[in-house]
Amino acid sequence: MSLDSRGEKARVFFALWPDAANAARLHAIAQQWHRSLGGRVTREDTLHATLVFIGDIALDRLQSLLDLAEGIQTPSFDIDFDAGGCWKHNRIAYLGMRQLPEALQNLHFELAARVGAAGFEIEKRPFSPHITLIRKAACGNATTENPINKNPAEPVTWTVRDFVLVKSSIGANGSRYEQIGRWPLLEDKPTS
Ligand code: ATP
Ligand code: MG
Repeated sequence: MSLDSRGEKARVFFALWPDAANAARLHAIAQQWHRSLGGRVTREDTLHATLVFIGDIALDRLQSLLDLAEGIQTPSFDIDFDAGGCWKHNRIAYLGMRQLPEALQNLHFELAARVGAAGFEIEKRPFSPHITLIRKAACGNATTENPINKNPAEPVTWTVRDFVLVKSSIGANGSRYEQIGRWPLLEDKPTS
């Protein structure tokens, strides 16, 4: 793990990161959508759902983010990514969910509260969890034949067992992400 950076700031966010099997499922959906929506498909190894976006912070404040995440005690939970959509204003085609799981709302709320209490400015927009599958999508090309209009889209059920802190930087092919911390959620105790 490296916290080095050429600048004095880092652009960071907390996120959910799919395991390899879910990333492959999500990527397959993205490729299917791409046939009608065009645009740039998110690389399989960068697919994620943002939990709390923090933005640019001084490098010496990273440690406080690592520390506050340590105390999160949320149980593991499932998310059904079952609702596709395409935002015309930013041309992002995404997979979201019809029903926001309470555990996800709680995890977001708990993290955001701690980030705020630690003195960071946090995003005030309502929490809208989604996975960006395509950028620069031609949202207008969505048709009834296009799976993006099916509701639900073929769901991807993801058991969330941990969350990560990610550093985002500009790379040659768009944003580059580096995971700088990972914290497990509480596993259900086996019933006996
Ligand atoms: P790019 O900006 O190169 O298209 P990106 O949006 O994935 O890529 P970042 O801008 O670093 O990279 O954003 C990281 C993550 O945080 C993304 O999931 C993005 O959607 C989300 N995000 C960015 N800005 C905000 C914001 N103001 N509020 C909430 N989430 C944000
Ligand atoms: Mg961005």
